[in-house]
Amino acid sequence: MQYKKLADTNIKIPEIGLGTWEYRGGVEPLQKGLSLGAFLIDTAEIYGTEEIVGRVIEGKRDQVFLATKVSPEHFDYQAVITAANNSLKRLGTDYIDLYQLHWPNPDIPIGETMAAMDKLVSAGKVRFIGVSNFSLAQFKEAQSVTENKIVSNQVRYNLVDRRIERELLPYCQKHNVTVIAYSPLAHGMSNLKTKLGGHVLEEVARDAGKTEAQVALNWCISRDKVIAIPKSNSSQRTTENCNASGWRLTPYQIDLLEDSTRRAIPTGLARRAS
Ligand code: NDP
Repeated sequence: MQYKKLADTNIKIPEIGLGTWEYRGGVEPLQKGLSLGAFLIDTAEIYGTEEIVGRVIEGKRDQVFLATKVSPEHFDYQAVITAANNSLKRLGTDYIDLYQLHWPNPDIPIGETMAAMDKLVSAGKVRFIGVSNFSLAQFKEAQSVTENKIVSNQVRYNLVDRRIERELLPYCQKHNVTVIAYSPLAHGMSNLKTKLGGHVLEEVARDAGKTEAQVALNWCISRDKVIAIPKSNSSQRTTENCNASGWRLTPYQIDLLEDSTRRAIPTGLARRAS
């Protein structure tokens, strides 16, 4: 496993972490991931997986970087504090490493939400503040009303969804904000392969001597400041995903993958036009 710095802190996080949305694998796959150096676990109050994560980290809390999220309906000041306390209980710990706003909520002033996040930091319940699904404008607004640096934005990023490359990713790279790529396998290899089309993933996997999932994940983490958090219910696939780190696709292999992504759009448009 290779590591990247969390934003401009001295904390190192693994470039492959462990997602837990729809996670139903019990303790083993997550334990397997931890044993392979994927010590960042991502959950959320809404996932219903904080308890199982709590069981996984029991007795090894200091070896895990724990990320969870508060839901937008809990963004008023007191609700943020309550949600954090409830997550801490379910996780069986007294601090969260990275507490993230799950989605923006335009109905609640961001200053109120961030004041609660800052309070959690000063109380020692949260180490770092992150956001998720924030556009660049929303990110800047949140940062402008926060005492602490927002260290990360968790957003959808994979071979067939590269929207963040327009402005969010360059901004994060320039300003040292970690991008946590969610759905790095497009929420399932069949989605990824259908949208990508052709045989490029197979070809690059053969050329690299890796699996298709490993190629897709390695492509994400080949970007500066980006880590990826695939989810798997299986220890075997978790092992495969962890082994997406520790090597790099060649520039030629990356070009092949990206050419195919670019070609996928005009081809689709042409088909619709005909
Ligand atoms: P992923 O892109 O990680 O894909 C998960 C799917 O791929 C599952 O069906 C899984 O099946 C399968 N899979 C995993 N590894 C492999 C492999 N090596 N080979 C073949 N298939 C594989 O999707 P997610 O949407 O779950 O995203 C990952 C994580 O990102 C979430 O769990 C969550 O933590 C976070 N997330 C955050 C969001 C947000 O709004 N902040 C939104 C969505 C996700 P199986 O389990 O059977 O292995």
